[in-house]
Amino acid sequence: LPSPRITLRHNLIRWRLTAAACLALALVVPGTAAAQTSAPSPSDPVQVVATTTVLADLVAQTGGALVSVSSLVPRGGEVHTFDPSPEDAFRLADADLIVMNGLGLDEWLRELIDVAGASSTPVIELAEDLPGVTYLASEAQGEEPHPGESPHADGTNPHLWLNVAYAQLYVDRIRDALAMVDPEHSADYAASSATYRDRLGVLDSEIRNQLAAIPAERRRVVSYHEAFPYFAAAYGLEIVSTLIQNPGQEPSAADLAALIEQIRAVGVSAIFAEGQFPEDLATTIAAEAGIPVVSGLHSDSVGDPPADTYEGMMRENHRLVVEALA
Ligand SMILES: [Zn+2]
Repeated sequence: LPSPRITLRHNLIRWRLTAAACLALALVVPGTAAAQTSAPSPSDPVQVVATTTVLADLVAQTGGALVSVSSLVPRGGEVHTFDPSPEDAFRLADADLIVMNGLGLDEWLRELIDVAGASSTPVIELAEDLPGVTYLASEAQGEEPHPGESPHADGTNPHLWLNVAYAQLYVDRIRDALAMVDPEHSADYAASSATYRDRLGVLDSEIRNQLAAIPAERRRVVSYHEAFPYFAAAYGLEIVSTLIQNPGQEPSAADLAALIEQIRAVGVSAIFAEGQFPEDLATTIAAEAGIPVVSGLHSDSVGDPPADTYEGMMRENHRLVVEALA
């Protein structure tokens, strides 16, 4: 069987041809060509494409009305196993700025940029080499690194944003990138990011204070995939294990039996299930181990209102966690 990576490569080669044909077609239609090549006026919002809805929201909050941002992975979609389409390549081709997380979360973006012919568009990686971050190792068993891939791709857990203080660092980097592509408005980006940063500071204290109410012996949890280690480290939980090692890979019966044994042995309080993954596995294991499931947590994607922003999803997450564990 071909590996998923090889399949992706084949698809992208096919799409590259399709995309080239479509672009050629667009160039011979006068109206379309004119619309696509006209220089942006000073009042045009900066076009930003982010890989996930969480990152897109951080950009939207930082840039306000000066930016127009969209996410490649749709709300509720799964970033680790995302399968980009030719439309995604077109969206990248129109972007002034491309925003990704990095650390292996959204590595598929690199080939998509290539397909879109967008290699001259600035790309920022929000999680890479952030001063002040204590990076945590990834438990996922990655493939062998491929030539040209970041050496971090398989070694570091990429889910930094679930620590709100680290999301503030993402905001700083977004502010600087927006000021770089739109220097005229750098003072506006400084002002709006400062306001947003303050709100995130309030949120961080709120989560910290409320999770402080959870008794010490109730702080051990199992999560669905390895999204929560930075959240746990920041707010005093202990992630004992995960149900799956890599999104897209089913655990074996032996893995699950060992996990149930571990849950009983160390006294796990609950299993964290996540909105973008099916919850049946979590429900089955929790029933088997006799512990509750914390349902509908948001990790890699924002959810439905009021969890449709980063702040909203983090508020919902900590409310659910406190309800289940305190
Ligand atoms: Zn994830």
